Order: sequence, then structure tokens, then C-alpha cells
Amino acid sequence: TVNNIRPVIRQLDANAINRIAAGEVVERPASAVKELVENAIDAGARRIDIAIAQGGKSLIRVTDDGCGIAPDDLALALSRHATSKIDGTDLLNIHTFGFRGEALPSLGAVGRLTITSRAEGFDATEIKVSGGEMGSVKPAALTRGTIVTLQDLFYATPARLKFMRSDRAEVQAISDVVKRLAMAEPFVSFTLRDVSGGEGRVTFRADAQTGDMFDALRGRLANVLGREFADNAVPIDAERDGFHLTGYAALPTYSRGAAVAQFLFVNGRPVRDKVLVGALRGAYMDFLSRDRHPAACLFLDCDPTMVDVNVHPAKSEVRFREAGVARGLIVSAVRHALANAGHRASTTIAG
Ligand code: ADP
Ligand code: MG
Repeated sequence: TVNNIRPVIRQLDANAINRIAAGEVVERPASAVKELVENAIDAGARRIDIAIAQGGKSLIRVTDDGCGIAPDDLALALSRHATSKIDGTDLLNIHTFGFRGEALPSLGAVGRLTITSRAEGFDATEIKVSGGEMGSVKPAALTRGTIVTLQDLFYATPARLKFMRSDRAEVQAISDVVKRLAMAEPFVSFTLRDVSGGEGRVTFRADAQTGDMFDALRGRLANVLGREFADNAVPIDAERDGFHLTGYAALPTYSRGAAVAQFLFVNGRPVRDKVLVGALRGAYMDFLSRDRHPAACLFLDCDPTMVDVNVHPAKSEVRFREAGVARGLIVSAVRHALANAGHRASTTIAG
């Protein structure tokens, strides 16, 4: 019987390994968009244009004006665990979105990927990889930056393809990802176009902001969350034991029926974290009834060694060394700002 046959242990080839990794890194088109836009931000881009078709299933194209990739590095960028962002000696000291060197090889294993790039002082070059099969580096035409084109996502992994939802649902998820990253980078301009119909319709657009960080963020939040949010939000700026909290918290009167407008960032990275969400709730406890949800966009910054972002390949979960301090800072800073705003409002009315 089968049970009596000794199983054979095999070393999987790179392509199989990349497809397995892709399962975790690239859950759906929005995760591919996230990885590519983060790469553009890490490359120092000031302008990032994203084009999608059929909810990102048939096409995702990210164009940036960042530092580009030199011809000799193109093939390396597509190999697993190759990154320019860390040297491996200090895994706790991370200042970029990326560091695992997994996104491009994963995308190249499950779709048709083309990277066209030009680094300063080099000619533009291009490389293609489809279903893990890598082509050679060829000359290309591009004045600066990088264009990454991903076609037919998951064509090489039909099982995953079956899990894709409607185009509309995928466009929504992509738009959420782009908006979150746009909040994190107010000085960068973003455009998201849906080119399904051919010529393209702008789904989201945010021009680069100017001024100091608070001005820029308020402008960006007006663009992403609406004027009303920006007009009803108080600035937060507080520090405690190595944590710095900045951003905007909406007045209780601007609360929502669902937790749809809570945006939290740790060292510039959009995160979903129960501790931080709980802290935000705690801060509004005295101001909101239980069925209402606060709206806020908060940035918690600390020394990278105080937080572990390497919990999951998608990096949207974090672990704090001092979760209690982070929580306490959010509760007290936001509560204080809201109380002050309430006080100001009532003295204005009285005066
Ligand atoms: P990671 O971002 O974790 O380093 P990726 O697979 O996403 O891994 O990218 C591999 C490398 O390719 C990056 O470290 C970077 O050097 C280069 N790269 C990727 N995208 C871009 C881009 N848009 N502009 C410049 N370099 C890029
Ligand atoms: Mg990356």
C-alpha cells in the first residue's frame, strides 16, 4: 500500500518556491499594487502613476520617477531574497517599506512581469519574467525611473485565480491600498487610473502637497477622506518614552457608524493592529456612544528596534516591545486634544 512506500524528499526548484511564497505575499491584485507602490516610494519617487484593468487581474502598471535600477541589477531584483534595502546584519533596524526581497520574484512567478527602468548614468533596459521563466536584459526606451507592468496575475496559479472577486471589489481594495499609502506620503503625487475600457478613467488622484508635515497631511486628508474630515479634525503631536504620535483625530461630532475611517501607521507603514485600534477607541470613550466609531489618521513613530514589522510577509501586522506605552500615548494624547477642542469650542460660544 501507499503507506509502505518510503516518501522521497526533494529540493523544490526556485520557481516552485516562488509560487509558494507568492501565496503569502500576493493574496490578490491589491497586494501586488501595494508591493509595487511601496517599491516606488522606497526608490524616492515624487510621482507615482498606477494603471489597472479588470480589477488589476489583467493589468497593473506602476510608473515612477524614482532612482531606477541599473542594467546589471535587473535580473538580481527578480531573484528571491535579493534586496538593496538591508544587508542582513540588522533585521530590526528597518527604514524602508521593503526588505524581504520577495515581491518581484513572487509576482514574476504568478503573472507576466515586465520591468523597464533607467538609473542615472545608465541606459534604459528591460527584463521580462512570465510564470517564473526569466528572459534576458534588453535595451529599452525610458527617460527616467521605473515602469513595472504585471499582466495576467495568477495565470500561472489557476487555484488562486478562482478566488478573485468581482472587478469592482478588486478596484475597491486597490483604491484603499493606494489611499493608505497616499496618506503616508503627502509630498508624493499619486494617480490611479482604470484603463479597462481602453483610454482610462481616473479613479483617484492626489497632487503632491507642500508646506510643513501638518499642512501637507491636512491637505492630503482633505483629498483622500474629504474636506469635511479635514475641517473637523484636530492635530495630534505628542511624545512619550521614545514614541512620537502625530496626525489628526476627528471631533466626536464627526464620528461614524462603522470603523471605516481609522488609519494607523507605524513608522510610516499602514498597519492593522488591535492594540492601536483599541487605544483609539479608549481615547474617545468619554466622547462617543458605543455604537459610534472615531475617525482618525495617526502616525506612531519610534526607533525601528522597538517594533517588529517582520510578523507576516505582507507586513501589515506589527509587534511592539512596549505595547503599553504606545497604547497609553494614543489614549492620553488624543483624549487631551479632544478635550481641549471641546473646551475651545465652548469658550468661543460663551464669548
Ligand atoms: P524589497 O522591496 O523587499 O527589496 P522587491 O522584490 O520588492 O524586494 O524588490 C527587489 C529590489 O528591486 C529592491 O530592493 C530594489 O533595489 C529594486 N526595485 C524594485 N522596484 C523598484 C523601483 N520601482 N525603483 C527602483 N528600484 C526598485
Ligand atoms: Mg518591495
